[in-house]
Formats: sequence, structure tokens, C-alpha cells
Amino acid sequence: MVDEATRPPVRPSATLVIQTAFLGDVVLTTPLLAALAERHGPVDVVTTPAAAALVETHPAVGAVLRYDKRGADGGVGGLWRLGRRLRARRYARVYLPHRSWRSAALALLAGVPERVGFADAPAAPTYSRRVPRPPTGHEVERLLALARPENGAAGKAPPVHLALTADDRAAADAWLRERGVGDGFVALAPGSIWGTKRWPGYAGLAAALDVPIVVIGGREDAALAEAVAAAAPGRAHNAVGALGLRGSAALIARAAVLVTNDSAPLHLATAVGTPIVAVFGPTVPALGFGPRGPRDVVVEHSSLACRPCSAHGPQVCPLGHHRCMRELAVADVAAAVAAVSGVEAQRAIRTGR
Ligand code: SF4
Repeated sequence: MVDEATRPPVRPSATLVIQTAFLGDVVLTTPLLAALAERHGPVDVVTTPAAAALVETHPAVGAVLRYDKRGADGGVGGLWRLGRRLRARRYARVYLPHRSWRSAALALLAGVPERVGFADAPAAPTYSRRVPRPPTGHEVERLLALARPENGAAGKAPPVHLALTADDRAAADAWLRERGVGDGFVALAPGSIWGTKRWPGYAGLAAALDVPIVVIGGREDAALAEAVAAAAPGRAHNAVGALGLRGSAALIARAAVLVTNDSAPLHLATAVGTPIVAVFGPTVPALGFGPRGPRDVVVEHSSLACRPCSAHGPQVCPLGHHRCMRELAVADVAAAVAAVSGVEAQRAIRTGR
């Protein structure tokens, strides 16, 4: 990565991507970054401070410009200041995978002549080129549609990729070593920003699995992770808050399998190639955010007419029963873990629970 401060301010043919959505969305944007870099050279990225670590080491990325849209850069003033910074860098083109008005306004304030975004975005009238958003398919392929030349065919999709550094891997290795956790452990990611996406069975799963467990998540998941780890004392270890985002991804890379909701860790595991057991409740993989690996498994309630009930998953079940998650049995998820991780079911699952 080139530090922003050391880069010449005037670059007449540079490419910018503005992606200030959730962490998982930023991970799924990495193939788009690679495809654009293939055509135009390294791209600069505007993203949130939280997501910066996900792209700042990526080989397709030049500079990362942090936009703290809910903090220091909030409001019209922050938008204006960043717009002026971007204008000084004189980008030739900007890609807008996030369909928000705020991203569109930033592109206009930056004075970028070529503004490429999706035709169904609310702010589409402000774009100079509008690309039809594929109605189906994985989000990776939908985002890659932005990089396709006009009237051009889809090329081979670059992989979802996180460039972990030697330090990231060393930090994860040291954390595991200090706790005596070797290979073959199962990682659990019980959190989600959206309440109905949280499967309530993680503590039961931790107790049921007969292998070492590492619980991961963001700082907002601390209490939940503690409760899950407490269900398997001495065998489950809580890594929430211990490592940064890439350090957590490096932990996931060492796991035999990750069990996760439809949330950011699913995409981190995709990026580092760890097999996934994904527990889906109010959302479904067909919305475009499912796992992509050949060994990955989705556990879901296949006979509930109310699924999916929203694109993200509401905070509270609108029907009040949350059956999509509550009726997913620990035994079914544990069996999926055994199948995906290659560990014999009898060994992976404690008997007599
Ligand atoms: S309405 Fe159905 S899909 Fe949505 S949260 Fe409730 S049980 Fe789940």
C-alpha cells in the first residue's frame, strides 16, 4: 500500500472505489477491486475506518482513504471536507458499489467525470454510466458487473481475497500457542449486527462439540462470546477483542471449520479458504451472500413460509416467534461441523449431552 501522505496529489488517470457499507460487503468487493486494477492499475478506496484493514494490504489497492461517516466525518461538513480532498487527487473515474446517496454526493463533490454505479440505485440519475444490477447470483458477481466494459462479456471472477501479513499470522499463531490450541479447532462466530440473524444455539454447540473451540467476533459481541465460551470451560477460548480484523481472519484461517451466521465472519472465512457451516435464519443464500466454497454447508429451516422476511434480517422477528433460528437443532449444526471438518461425527460430537 502507498501511504496517502506520500502520494503526489495530482494523478490524472487514477481510479477510485467508494465502498462504505458493512464489513462483509467490503470483503465481497475485493474481486471488483482486483478486476478494476487489472484494467486501470491499482485503485484507491474510500471506506470506513473499521473496514480499512480489510483492503489496505490488498495488492489491487493503492491508497485507502478513511471516511468516518458516523463519527468525525459525520454530516454535510465531513462529506464536504472529504470531497475536497478527493477533488485534489483528480480521479478520472469512480465506481460506486454502495448504492447510497452519500456515496453519490461524494463522487460529485470530488468532481470525478466518470461515475459508474448501478442503474437501480436511488442516486442513479447522478451517475455518468448506469450498469444494470444482475437480479440474481452471488453479490461478488453482481458487483463485478460494474467492472465489465460496456457491451463486454463477463471475465473470470477474481477470488474474494484478504492479504494477510506475516504479522497478522504471527499474532494469531501466538494467541493460539499461548492457550495450547493446536490444529483441528472449530471457530464459532455467534454475533451479528441484526438480532434475528443470531442463532441462539452457539453455547449448546460449544458444549456439544468435543474439540477445542475459539469464539470470534467484534467488540460488540463480547458478552455473547463470553457466554458461549463459558459453556465449554477449559476447551473454548474467547478471542473477541484480542486481535484486529486481519488477525481474526488469520485465526479463522487456522480453524478446521468456521460456524457462523449470515454475517461478516462468513465472508472472512471465504477470503481465507476455511470451510464454513453457515446458519441462515431470516435471510437465504439466494439473496446473494451465501458461502461459495465446495465444502461449505448451509443449515437452514427449509419449510418456513416467512423466510426470507427481509434483505438484512430485522432486529426482532416481526411474527414474534423467531422459529427460523430457534428451531434449528444443535445436533444438526454439530453434524454439519463433523461432515465439513472431516472429523468423525463420533469424535466431534460429545455423547450423552
Ligand atoms: S418472520 Fe420468519 S424469517 Fe423472519 S425472523 Fe421471524 S421466523 Fe425468521
